[in-house]
Amino acid sequence: MAHKLEIIDLFVSIDDQQILNGISLTVNSGETHALMGPNGNGKSTLLMTIMGHPKYTINKGKILLDGQNIIEMSVDERSRAGIFLALQNPQIIQGVSNFEFLRYVVDAHSKTKLKLNEIFAKVKDSAKELNFDSSILKRNVNDGFSGGEKKKNEILQLKLLQPKFALIDEIDSGLDVDALKITSTNINKMQNEQRGMILVSHYDRFFNYVKPTHTHVLIKGKIVKSGGPELVTKINNEGYEWITNG
Ligand code: ADP
Ligand code: MG
Repeated sequence: MAHKLEIIDLFVSIDDQQILNGISLTVNSGETHALMGPNGNGKSTLLMTIMGHPKYTINKGKILLDGQNIIEMSVDERSRAGIFLALQNPQIIQGVSNFEFLRYVVDAHSKTKLKLNEIFAKVKDSAKELNFDSSILKRNVNDGFSGGEKKKNEILQLKLLQPKFALIDEIDSGLDVDALKITSTNINKMQNEQRGMILVSHYDRFFNYVKPTHTHVLIKGKIVKSGGPELVTKINNEGYEWITNG
């Protein structure tokens, strides 16, 4: 089934500081949108706002999932509605083992009650596809995980949840070449006609693995340039100056 995520004229502030200044963006299933732009311009803010982080205040605008405005929905309602965010900076959760966490995540999203060994098999298979040592399941969530392990753990959740829309924030930062390759391959496999993606990255080496259909540049809380995959290459070669000076 085809799905549509529409962001319409979105204005967002944090602690009374205006960060997003009228963002409009439509993502259809089957599309992968690259979101680029210099640091501190609102890329993570946009993804956090779509996911429903309470710190981000929407002053104006709508976010529609298949025509329904979701801005009054809580994070977990949005998650169950099919939106997923892989965080730029995954948080440590002390006292909760990673498997326990993943089990709750899977449980909360499945219509039928799965047996524990079914969930374990699912988690283990997905971890294996990420070349993730299964000892990672016994440790507290993200506790002492390397940068790469934290990022893989986000993609592990993505694989388990199979969302309608995947928002993926700088998954490639801090990954070594092998981890980048396997993580990208796993994201790549999830690109299909039933799913839309918004991918934030600074680097064309990531977008060479996971090819975008659309590219946008976000500066000072506004999308100042949109194009196809060729825009990634142009930014890689020429930076952003030609956009800001143009
Ligand atoms: P990007 O992802 O493009 O690097 P962000 O969305 O993280 O940018 O940040 C945009 C602006 O919002 C920055 O000026 C940043 O300092 C500010 N900001 C982001 N998160 C917070 C927060 N939790 N509290 C206060 N300011 C924030
Ligand atoms: Mg960011």
